[in-house]
Amino acid sequence: MMKYLLLLILFAIVWWAWKKRSTPPRDDARRNPPVERMVTCAHCGVHLPESDALADGARYFCNDAHRRAVQRQGS
Ligand SMILES: [Zn+2]
Repeated sequence: MMKYLLLLILFAIVWWAWKKRSTPPRDDARRNPPVERMVTCAHCGVHLPESDALADGARYFCNDAHRRAVQRQGS
C-alpha cells in the first residue's frame, strides 16, 4: 500500500513540475503582447496602427480622402 502512495506522490510531483514548466511561455506572451508600429497620417497628423493606415511610399494616411488630398497638393 505504501508503495502505491509513494508512486502517487511521485506522479503528482512530476505532473506539478511539468505544469509549472509549461506555464511561463504563456505568461511571457501576456506580459509582452505583440506591439504594432504606430504611424502618423501625413495629412491630419492622427496616429494609427500601421495595419489600419494607407501607405503611399514613405508616407501613411488615415483614409483615402487624406491620401488624395496630399497627392493633389503635391502635384
Ligand atoms: Zn488623416
